[in-house]
Amino acid sequence: MNIPFLSLKEVTALHGAEINEAVTSVVNSGWYLQGEENERFETNYANFIGTKHCIGCANGLDALIWIFRAYIELGVMQPGDEVIVPANTYIATILAITENGLKPNLVEPKLNTLEIDDDLIEAAITPKTKAICIVHLYGRNAYTDKIGELCKKYGLKLIEDNAQAHGCMVKVKGYGLEVKEMMTGSIGDAAGHSFYPGKNLGALGDGGAVTTNDDELAEAVRTLANYGSQKKYVFKYTGRNSRLDEIQAAVLDVKLKYLVEDNAHRKEVANYYYNHINNPLVSLPDRLPDEQNAYHLFPILVAGGKRDALHDYLDQNGVGTVIHYPIAPHKQECYKEWNQMSFPITERIADEELSLPIGPAIKMEEVAEVVRLINAYKG
Ligand SMILES: *Cc1c(COP(=O)(O)O)cnc(C)c1O
Repeated sequence: MNIPFLSLKEVTALHGAEINEAVTSVVNSGWYLQGEENERFETNYANFIGTKHCIGCANGLDALIWIFRAYIELGVMQPGDEVIVPANTYIATILAITENGLKPNLVEPKLNTLEIDDDLIEAAITPKTKAICIVHLYGRNAYTDKIGELCKKYGLKLIEDNAQAHGCMVKVKGYGLEVKEMMTGSIGDAAGHSFYPGKNLGALGDGGAVTTNDDELAEAVRTLANYGSQKKYVFKYTGRNSRLDEIQAAVLDVKLKYLVEDNAHRKEVANYYYNHINNPLVSLPDRLPDEQNAYHLFPILVAGGKRDALHDYLDQNGVGTVIHYPIAPHKQECYKEWNQMSFPITERIADEELSLPIGPAIKMEEVAEVVRLINAYKG
């Protein structure tokens, strides 16, 4: 059997006829930027996430960059201020902070959740800290009531990197006695979303969005992503061209209708992995309640220095796996000044993590074959 890590061709084919029709209709319309497709998708995605505003932009990195830049333009943050962020994230989260002259304050994750360790956050807060940026990495909810309480106590903005968690639901306390069900991307003050093709809600190219309930922030983000302009040829900020195009918005609007259904298949795959993987070399992160995991990726940890060997063994047996991520941000050449810092849990995850095939199109017999191969692996 040949089981790719993720076949984008098969993912697109799931809703292929409708996607082709949507693309063709934009092609024939003669209108390619800042039109009806963006408006419709933004409205539908804001409704799905449960926020007042959604602003489409060029990609997920830009979405995060615009959130911090908008807070700077609004006087909420200034260059030199600090942002608390997990040490084990995709580089984009960190780049969005440093791009704006802000300082990331890296905090270790928990090994059993792979998400930021909320017990370590309070000690990392300084007088310069202005925000906590949580990342719902692998599709797993990273929000905890403790994080929400720390934001209130210290007057910090809560920013969510929701690039990997479209459709993840969380039960949030802190509204009196009420416990409210919310989507990730609506819990904090603002969230960045990526529609990179491989994400749960993926475009056929680049795309991203910011969601927020904050009117001022929404206006600043929309302006920044459109050259800093609200009125043609009048420029309020030194912005950039970072727009979502009409073809991508049309594709995303089709795929949004099927996101819950596509995520349900991911859950079925993940539950099969949880119920059947029993190789002592392999450990799985804590199993979250199903709704709190959008299962963007299915990470496993491989002990005893056997991760790369398991990757090669699966590869030789026709199964594609990917490491998320082999080098932690603080070990990257682009952040030389942090290379000597030590984040043992983050480094251990970088050494032991392997992501198994998962997606809306993978067949259950393929999943069973992946499990059979893993359980047969002796190291
Ligand atoms: C994909 C991703 C991004 C960036 O998205 P792009 O659309 O590729 O720019 C940001 N953060 C995380 C955690 C991601 O996985």
